Amino acid sequence: MSHELVAYLGVMDAGKSTLALQYHHSLGGHGVLYTSMDRSGEGVISSRIGLEHKAKEVTSDFDLYDDLAELRPPYVVVDEVQFLTAPKQINHLADAVDGLGVDVYAFGLKTDFLGRLFPASQRLIELADRVEELPVRVNCWCGARGTHNARVSGGVMAFSGDVVEVGDMDSYAVLCRRHHRAGLA
Ligand SMILES: [Zn+2]
Repeated sequence: MSHELVAYLGVMDAGKSTLALQYHHSLGGHGVLYTSMDRSGEGVISSRIGLEHKAKEVTSDFDLYDDLAELRPPYVVVDEVQFLTAPKQINHLADAVDGLGVDVYAFGLKTDFLGRLFPASQRLIELADRVEELPVRVNCWCGARGTHNARVSGGVMAFSGDVVEVGDMDSYAVLCRRHHRAGLA
C-alpha cells in the first residue's frame, strides 16, 4: 500500500485548522497532531470557528522522523506547517511517509504577507505527492478570489516587518493578486 504526503496550502481564514481537526476526527482520532505557533499558544490547534484540540508543539530542532518512528501512528496531521524548519522538518515528513508507511496531511499558509512562499511551504510543494487547495473560498474586498495575505497597519498595507507574527489576526487581510500588488487593502 502506498502512502502519501498531502499538502493543503492557502490563505488565512480559509479554514485550514478546522479542516486539519476534521481530518483527525474522520481518520479515527488515533493519529499524531503537530502544530507550530498556533494563535492560541503552544501545543494546541485552534480554529476560528471554535474547535480546539491538543497537539504536539514542533520546535525548530525537533526531529519529526524520530518521533514518528517511536510513535508509529496510523496517520499524521500537521497544522501551521509553514512554520516548520525547511528543508529539514519537511524532509522528515516525506521520510516518514516512505520509511514508516504513514500518510501525512500538512496544512498551512502558502505565502507570507509579502507574497513570497514560506520556505517550509516551498519544500512541501517540492516533495508532496499532492498539493490541494483549501476548499473554502476567501474573497478580496473587491469580490475576486483572495489569493494573497496582506498585513494591514492603520488601514494601510505594510511592506515590511516580521513574517512570524501570530495571534494578531485583525491586522491581516486576504486580497486578490491585483490589489495585493497595488497595495490596496
Ligand atoms: Zn481585489
